[in-house]
Formats: sequence, structure tokens, C-alpha cells
Amino acid sequence: MTSGPTTALFDYAPAPEAIGIAPIANSYDLFIGGQFVPPVAGGRLATVNPATEQILTEVGLADAADVDRAVKAARRAQEGWARMRGRDRGKLLFRIARLMAERSRELAVLETLDNGKPIRESRDVDIPLACAHVFYHAGWADKLGYAGLGANPRPLGVAAQVIPWNFPLLMLAWKIAPALATGNTVVLKPAETTPLTALRFAEICQQADLPPGVVNILTGGPQTGAALISHPGIDKVAFTGSTEVGRSIQRTLAGRVPVTLELGGKGANIIFEDAPIDQAVEGIVEGIFFNQGAVCCAGSRLLVAEPIVEVVVEALQRRLATLRLGDPMDKNTDIGAINSPDQLARITSLVAAGVAEGAACWTSPAPLPERGYWCAPTVFTGVHQTHRIAREEIFGPVLSVLTFRTPAEALAKANDTTYGLAAGVWTEKGSRILAIAEGLHAGVVWANTYNRFDPSSPFGGVKESGYGREGGPQGLAGYVHAD
Ligand code: NAD
Repeated sequence: MTSGPTTALFDYAPAPEAIGIAPIANSYDLFIGGQFVPPVAGGRLATVNPATEQILTEVGLADAADVDRAVKAARRAQEGWARMRGRDRGKLLFRIARLMAERSRELAVLETLDNGKPIRESRDVDIPLACAHVFYHAGWADKLGYAGLGANPRPLGVAAQVIPWNFPLLMLAWKIAPALATGNTVVLKPAETTPLTALRFAEICQQADLPPGVVNILTGGPQTGAALISHPGIDKVAFTGSTEVGRSIQRTLAGRVPVTLELGGKGANIIFEDAPIDQAVEGIVEGIFFNQGAVCCAGSRLLVAEPIVEVVVEALQRRLATLRLGDPMDKNTDIGAINSPDQLARITSLVAAGVAEGAACWTSPAPLPERGYWCAPTVFTGVHQTHRIAREEIFGPVLSVLTFRTPAEALAKANDTTYGLAAGVWTEKGSRILAIAEGLHAGVVWANTYNRFDPSSPFGGVKESGYGREGGPQGLAGYVHAD
């Protein structure tokens, strides 16, 4: 494993996805009460392709007056939506899910243009998972009495939902599908840098004949989000984003309405000496370099048994040297662009902190394109628990490698974080998997794999990674008054 020739890189001819399938208008309005309407104050916000720095289009910038209109539209629609028979709500959700699947190529192209993630990932992961989430919840709509939430779970009312930029359509599906299945109506705000698939989803709602006002989409920035979560007419807040903003939301609401918070993470991926190394290396790559590392549950701290650390790091670096970085619309691309200059600046400053604190920095030899926002896969070795790169969420393609000697030390180090979203464990021993999983303070633990999702499996955190679950019957619980 340690020696041997460097992996030969095949040359691939470019395989660009056709972008004509996803036409983009010059401008988009807000989606309120089933119609696209301009913002009251006429504000606009540009959205940029992070791989080229070109402006894709402009969208409405919603302010407090628009929030008020949207919440009132959702309120007007809510009673009728909740009264509708579960199977009819389910039919509409199935219709939306089928339309999303039919238009999946278009949605994948839009997602990649707006976010910068490789088309291979939006096509094979984001959009299929988003569709699966809506299909799954469509199935629940007429079976809520069997979800373990009492005989007659009742909707909360109007849900205010705010989501981040890393999985725009998937996070939308995680929010909207359970809310609608349980008879709530929603006002959703996508992230300011990735509004396009949410607006296309609004068109799909129109195409599906969803009753007006059941789904409302307000594009805008942090102020739009702040106005939405503090509106007196809402009955529930569901937020996915940074721990810092999650904290401020909790302070603002102070218990006024039920809240679910899906926040940041600093996941530990633990590799024991008996782990299958080649498989583990693939899991490490999946854990931290998928989606340029902009994954809340990323395995951003690699904990490796001391005797095998050199073997693992060498194998990892060899593998990383084969990853292709560049045009996200090319089907051969493994690593796409970073979503925004702000995010790139944050990643760069944390990498600089890692170097300044004395960790050894290795960067993949992939050349970076001249335009756009890029960060090559980076691996830090010799990392200490106290280093900022071991403690703070980087949300970029940067891995911190630490070592351990005993399972107890692995657990202690893995749990030495303010976060508690996800973790991974790699070993041949089933008993060790169970013991370690039991000891990890994390909402999700993967064994001999990483970053696997299923709509029937609840996802969420402990500690400063938030509370509440998305997916499974547990995810429905956040949207109902149980009897
Ligand atoms: P962010 O917190 O800056 O923004 C998230 C959303 O909140 C955006 O739509 C933003 O406009 C809005 N917002 C910002 N300030 C607000 C305020 N004061 N009130 C209301 N809304 C406000 O996060 P981000 O940079 O977009 O996303 C990255 C973060 O999201 C990371 O920390 C990541 O771990 C987390 N995340 C968590 C999960 C999860 O399931 N736990 C999933 C994806 C991302």
C-alpha cells in the first residue's frame, strides 16, 4: 500500500452537460399566493455562477412587507389544506414529486449553475434525494395516524422555513415535504446565493395545481430571513444554517413558537487499525470532499489509529491527486467551485490559521481555473485538538488529520467538540462499531461508510448542531400537535 507507482491519470475528453435544458429568465419575482409577484419595494438581488463569476439573473429581494403578504397568503390557505383528505394532499405531493423527477435534468443543471457543485453530484445525489424525500412524505399524508404521533396529529399552521446554499433543492425538500404532508402551509426563504431551484420548484407547484398559498417562496438575504422568523403570524420555525444564526433565531423567538434547528458540524471519521484501508480512503474522500466539503455532516476531522496513519494519508493523497477540479458542468468533474467569495475567504483564512498554528499542509496538485472561486483539496496532518482547524467548521475541502492509540482516546477526541451532528467509524469488528457508536455524541453515526441518506432515516444533531429531526416519522413530529 505505501509504495508503488503514482496512479496514472486518464485523459478524458470534456463531457459538458447541455445547459439549454434549463433556460434562465432575466429576472424572477417572489412566489406568493400561487402567483409570481414583484417585491413591494422593488428590491433586486443578483445571483452569480461561482464557476465563472457571471451574473445568472436577478431575483426579488423580499422585505418585511413581502413577508407579511406571504404569511397572510399561507394563513388563508392553511385551513383548507389541513381539511383536505390526507389522500388528496398525498396525491398533490406525489404529483409534485413526479414533476420534479421528470424535470430532474433541468433542476440539476440549474443547481450546478447557481451553486458551483459538479453536475455529477447534482444529477446523481441532490435531485434524486430531493425527489425521494417528496415521494416518501407523499406516502405519509394519509397515514399520519400510524406515525406514532397519536391517533389524530394536527398541523401547527404556518411554517417559516429558512435554508442554506449547500444543498438548495434538497434542503427545500427536507423542509417543505414533511410540513405539507402534515397539513401545514409554508413560507420558505432560500439562501441569497442559490435561489434558482426554489423558484423552479415554485413553477412546479403551479404546474401541479397545488392550491395557491400552500407554498410561498421569498428570495432575499439575512434581513428577509430575520423578518420571516420574527413575523407574529407564524406557528413554527424550521431553520438550517450556521450555529451562530441558529442561536440568534432562538434568542429572537424565546420559545414563542416551536423551532427546529439544523446547524453546523465538525464530524469525526474514525479509522481503526483493522479497517479496510482502500474502502476507508473512499469513505474519507466522500466524507470531506463531496460537495467541496460544504456539508454540515462532513467528516472534517479524520481520526486514524496511530500505526496506520502514514499508510492512510499516503493512500489518501494518491487518491486526491486523481480528482478532477474544474468546470462543474463537465460530467468528469469531481470538485466544483466554492459557492461565494465570502465562503472562499472563510476557508482560506482557516487554512492560513492551520499553517500558522503549525500543522503540516498538503494541497492536491490540481490546477485552479483563472476565473471563479476555487479551493484545491487540502489535507492537514499533525493537527492538535486545540488547533482552530480541529475545532471550527471550515465548510470547505479541508481535512484535519489527528491520531489516537486506544478506542477510549478515539472517543474522547471525537467528542471533544461543541458540535454533535455526525460521525463515522471504520473497523471490521461489529462489537467495536456498536461500542463506539454508543459512545459518540452525534445525531448520526455511519459504520464503514459515510454520507449516506434516506428519507426514512431521521437526520439531525445534538449539542450545538441543533435539535429536531428531518426524515422518518421523527421528522413529521416537528410539524404536528400530537394528541
Ligand atoms: P447561514 O446561517 O449564514 O445562512 C443560512 C440561511 O439563513 C440563509 O438563507 C440566510 O440568508 C439566512 N439568515 C442569515 N441570517 C439570518 C437571520 N439573522 N435570521 C434569519 N435568517 C438568516 O448559513 P450558510 O452559510 O448559508 O450555510 C452554512 C451552514 O449551514 C453551515 O454551518 C452548515 O453546517 C449548516 N447546515 C446544516 C445542515 C444540517 O442539517 N444540520 C444542513 C446544511 C447546512
